[in-house]
Amino acid sequence: MAGHHKILIIGGGAAGITVAASLQRHGVRAGDIAIVEPSDTHYYQPAFTLVGAGLFDMDKTRRSTDTLIPPGVTRIAASASTFAPDGNSVTLSTGETLTYDYLVVATGLKLDWDKVEGLSAALGHDGVCSNYSPTHVTYTLDCIKSLKPGGRAVFTQPPLPFKCPGAPQKIVYLTVDDLRRQGIRDRVEVEYYVHAPVIFGVPFFARQLVKIAEACGVKVFYQHNLVAVDSKAKTATFEIVGGEKQGQRIAVPYDMLHVSPPQSPPDAIKSSPLANAAGWVEVNQNSMQHVRHANVFSLGDVASTPNSKTAAAVRKQAPVVVRNILKLMHGATVENGYDGYASCPLTTANGKAIIAEFVYGGKVTPTLPLLDPGQQRWLGWWIKKSFLPVLYWNYMLRGHEWFPRHNTAFKEPAA
Ligand SMILES: Cc1cc2nc3c(=O)[nH]c(=O)nc-3n(C[C@H](O)[C@H](O)[C@H](O)COP(=O)(O)OP(=O)(O)OC[C@H]3O[C@@H](n4cnc5c(N)ncnc54)[C@H](O)[C@@H]3O)c2cc1C
Repeated sequence: MAGHHKILIIGGGAAGITVAASLQRHGVRAGDIAIVEPSDTHYYQPAFTLVGAGLFDMDKTRRSTDTLIPPGVTRIAASASTFAPDGNSVTLSTGETLTYDYLVVATGLKLDWDKVEGLSAALGHDGVCSNYSPTHVTYTLDCIKSLKPGGRAVFTQPPLPFKCPGAPQKIVYLTVDDLRRQGIRDRVEVEYYVHAPVIFGVPFFARQLVKIAEACGVKVFYQHNLVAVDSKAKTATFEIVGGEKQGQRIAVPYDMLHVSPPQSPPDAIKSSPLANAAGWVEVNQNSMQHVRHANVFSLGDVASTPNSKTAAAVRKQAPVVVRNILKLMHGATVENGYDGYASCPLTTANGKAIIAEFVYGGKVTPTLPLLDPGQQRWLGWWIKKSFLPVLYWNYMLRGHEWFPRHNTAFKEPAA
């Protein structure tokens, strides 16, 4: 569908739909908004961690995209191929060209399975699983249940950036808990290979997680990057990326291999004039406005902002994008408003989670008053499993914006 749209949104995932719904709530006519989105299925990805552990129904993570597009907003079922921001135009996979007054880029990121030799072919059988893959997420549970005494479960964390900073390790703790309940925890090795030199990027939560991994008997190997999977031999090859052994490779045998894949900007973004040197849409980290093209905004996983890539971040970025587009429409200047907020419910067992909330610089900013944010609690589990899905489907994707403020004045207890 060629044509001109006042506000053109590229990507109808968590960010694109939230922005469209919120624009409507602020009085923008639905007919002035169009969303380019190729996929007919929308996933609530944060629940994939629970699905992989057999603790959430996969059917409840997916809905038809068309049922989520706000009424009257045009959905164009195609993907954006090229961007020409100097001419305010986008070319689609269909070959058609669209023009716009304001552009919002919300394509998410690309799961780069092919960056690991043998991984694409290995995924989904013979013990190789990933909660990151909607197609194979339910296979994670099969792998957990297939572990036998004497077996080894291996988990990986890719180089940054990747979506949901806790997802690679949440499934480690849920697997340990499952093995405990099966009565075989002591007889299965659980190993976690992390690309970074730390277990989590925010020191306050990292300290808690190191203790939890230790208490769970998980062996953590830092600065190890998965480079190859041999599904016939059932070995994973890691390259050591720091320290004295930097550059060496080790082959690790596994019975279960849970992979969190490397993640990259989508090709159409990387090759566009909107990208920074790393390939992400180059926006101001507080206003979400493009640094070279004033009528272009970006949010969510594809934006260059150095926050943790989460749906929680999208919830706080979307109102800033919407407010700033409205300001430009009324001849005003944009304002800063996003402080880098992200939240990651760290599921440490079936029935327990730490709600990690933080802003730029790794500053801890809890929303719940009085409670120590570093503690694992049933309340955190309830928030993750029951509250956040409802918040996502019924509140955020419908463009509601009010939420209790996270406490930016919180003082961390001394380490
Ligand atoms: C296993 C897992 C666990 C997670 N856990 C959590 C959690 O606990 N808490 C949390 O807050 N977040 C979590 N997340 C992260 C969260 O799901 C993402 O950060 C969020 O979905 C980002 O929203 P987005 O709109 O940027 O991207 P997405 O929701 O991925 O949507 C991007 C959309 O853009 C479309 N698209 C792609 N390319 C194009 C193109 N060229 N043209 C047009 N459209 C395009 C795609 O089809 C897609 O619909 C998790 C993610 C995973 C995978």
